[in-house]
Amino acid sequence: MSANAKAATADVVKDAPRFEVKIHTDRCIAAGHCVAAAQEVFDQNETSGIVELLKSNPHPSLYAAVKEAVHKCPTAAIEIIEK
Ligand code: SF4
Repeated sequence: MSANAKAATADVVKDAPRFEVKIHTDRCIAAGHCVAAAQEVFDQNETSGIVELLKSNPHPSLYAAVKEAVHKCPTAAIEIIEK
């Protein structure tokens, strides 16, 4: 990665909000879109397929991926709380 690219990445991370993630497992229908969007943050139960939260306070660099998971979840089972 070039020095410019590193600096740009650092700026994105610096500007990304600190946030918390909450999941509502009662709404989850095991569609799996959240795992596809942010596998560092979400997993699915091996038996039921219901979402499992791996990180409730992910690093700010994961904000965009979690936001994508929120948008892709068909049942609004994922919530972002910005700090
Ligand atoms: S995308 Fe939504 S419905 Fe699908 S597994 Fe994730 S939380 Fe559950």
